[in-house]
Amino acid sequence: MKMERIANVRGVCADFLKTASHFYEVEDCGIRVLTARPLKVREHWTTELFGDYDPNSLLIRVWMRTAVRKEMTSFGTFLSTLCHEFCHHLDFQKFGFADSLHTRGFFERAAALYHHVRGTPPKQLVWAPVSGGRWRIDWPRTNRSAH
Ligand SMILES: [Zn+2]
Repeated sequence: MKMERIANVRGVCADFLKTASHFYEVEDCGIRVLTARPLKVREHWTTELFGDYDPNSLLIRVWMRTAVRKEMTSFGTFLSTLCHEFCHHLDFQKFGFADSLHTRGFFERAAALYHHVRGTPPKQLVWAPVSGGRWRIDWPRTNRSAH
């Protein structure tokens, strides 16, 4: 990543996704690694800060630099994004959901996958309610409770 060898990064991502798809017995998904976030964001793609997923083409895209300041994404954030997008893939392909929403269960699954891949102990996620009956992860409290 540091040397921006896109083909190498892509190869590792593809291996990881292939292994994960095989484990969960779902279709393989495509992977595209980009240096920067594409300007044109397509409809119906789920778009994050560092990645997106298209349920129609089963394509995950991740990018290595932030859109605004062009700073390099950290390894942890990059891997976390990859796991997150793969969980969108699972929502459609494994669970047959009509849509893939950022529910608490979704974040728990993404976190479990991330910590399994890194070999780090999973953190107890601390939730904070936001408007409309939705939830977000309280990262400061989540990280404090991990120590
Ligand atoms: Zn998402």
